Amino acid sequence: MNLRDLDTIGTPAGAVPTMPVLFLGHGSPMNAIEENEFVDGWRSVAQTLPRPAAILCISAHWETRGTHVTAMARPRTIHDFGGFPKELYAVQYPAPGDPDLARETQRAVTRTTVGLDTAWGLDHGCWSVVKHLYPAADVPVLQLSLDYTQSPQYHYELARELAPLRMRGVLILGSGNMVHNLGLAAWEKMDAPEFGFDWALEASARMKHFILSHEHQQLVRYASQGREFSLAIPTPEHYLPLLYALALQEETDELSLFNDKAVMGSLTMTSLKIERDPGSR
Ligand code: ZN
Repeated sequence: MNLRDLDTIGTPAGAVPTMPVLFLGHGSPMNAIEENEFVDGWRSVAQTLPRPAAILCISAHWETRGTHVTAMARPRTIHDFGGFPKELYAVQYPAPGDPDLARETQRAVTRTTVGLDTAWGLDHGCWSVVKHLYPAADVPVLQLSLDYTQSPQYHYELARELAPLRMRGVLILGSGNMVHNLGLAAWEKMDAPEFGFDWALEASARMKHFILSHEHQQLVRYASQGREFSLAIPTPEHYLPLLYALALQEETDELSLFNDKAVMGSLTMTSLKIERDPGSR
């Protein structure tokens, strides 16, 4: 679908609902094929969303020099992990792409020239969650990469430029984990429903405080928040998708948390939905 057509065919203003924005804690790739409370949480939130024209996913698992958007008509399913059961490698998520929306995304961003990518596809940070939101794979999906050379503030400001896409029916979805330190994971607790180390729970509590009190700059400056944050965010890629989602929060938007649990000691599955307050429409 060419989103420009919405203007040219004279769709009345307001006919396309302003789409919510999501940040989903994706956790283990096994969530793609398991049944558990986190998967249930993703499915439940999808039931509350207007049907999107397309999804633009910012995944922890696509880091590049410069910013790129997938622009192919048929993105491949990338199995970007090792050592998992055969069943997981067999998963295909054949959602179409949307080259017109890729160009629209490129035009929306002014602080850099977004590259149109035809080589990537959908990595597991994207498909392992989106397959539960839209199992029929009938909503076009694009990914926007994370420029690993840039600062958290840069990512936050770039994300703000994506705001017009919300108005055009695009579901913007950050996929990562707020607390994510696999080096310290308690693998023996893999099957426990909930387990967090003290530092992980402390970091999570402070992150949620900053999120709920709209103190985004405190979250952008995560590197100066002390020991718990340093342990929670040893590398930025799983955390930055959170900043993309928060940057799109308008003053009148409501924010709700779900899947708010720690697993394996050093990961949190905490997810959030940002949506327009129905009263402000
Ligand atoms: Zn991941």
